[in-house]
Amino acid sequence: MEKLSSELEKKLRDVEYNYRLIEDNIYNAAQKSGRNREDIIFLAATKTVDAQVINHAVKCGLRYIGENRVQELLSKYEDYDLAHCDLQFIGHLQTNKVRQIIDKVSLIQSVDSVKLALEVARQAKLHDKVQDILIEVNIGDEDSKSGVSAENLEELLYNASQIEGIKVRGLMTIPPICEEKSEICKYFENMHRLFIDISGKKIDNISMDYLSMGMSDDYREAIECGANMVRVGSALFGKRIYKEC
Ligand SMILES: *Cc1c(COP(=O)(O)O)cnc(C)c1O
Repeated sequence: MEKLSSELEKKLRDVEYNYRLIEDNIYNAAQKSGRNREDIIFLAATKTVDAQVINHAVKCGLRYIGENRVQELLSKYEDYDLAHCDLQFIGHLQTNKVRQIIDKVSLIQSVDSVKLALEVARQAKLHDKVQDILIEVNIGDEDSKSGVSAENLEELLYNASQIEGIKVRGLMTIPPICEEKSEICKYFENMHRLFIDISGKKIDNISMDYLSMGMSDDYREAIECGANMVRVGSALFGKRIYKEC
């Protein structure tokens, strides 16, 4: 076995420490919102993180990972410990890249148009699978963000419910950057309300199993507002270092 550099050893120790801390925080936030730890999925957002470091988090107990970029996912794909964790796609997805990931991910969290839903379905059928997806909602109505507006969500869901080859399993959001926790909680609460309202409508082929919201700075608040999946990056792996491509 190759000797690890002391820098890498320190990194892995930090990840282990952070992992336990986040686990504790998730446990407490779940309790506060009247749920159990097992009701919440802790997904690590793994962009820019080496597979070796990701796999160390998996050794610590991490069971879900999510990538943002198709190229990066493909370059790391052979190295993930996929026997012990589930790989999802959480970033903006271009229709022409769907085919590159369709056989590799269990859930695509970022579907926000009929056009993208149709392409995911088309590629899924080519692989004899039904692809689970979440609908990404632009809850802050920001021009800079992808996601369907809350106003157009229902129409997209009714359209998606008619498409064979996909199954909508819930909603995902990235809310606006907020100075105050109380401000971000409003967005989380609005998302939770949509999630509950849609569940109540019992639309064919649409099930509201997952509400994916909350990142490093606000996953506790998100859980307290009803999230059952959080996507945490830098709080687990440290500050991201973007390499030049
Ligand atoms: C990077 C990323 C996260 C995690 O961000 P952190 O603030 O580092 O926790 C969550 N969701 C998506 C879609 C991301 O791209």
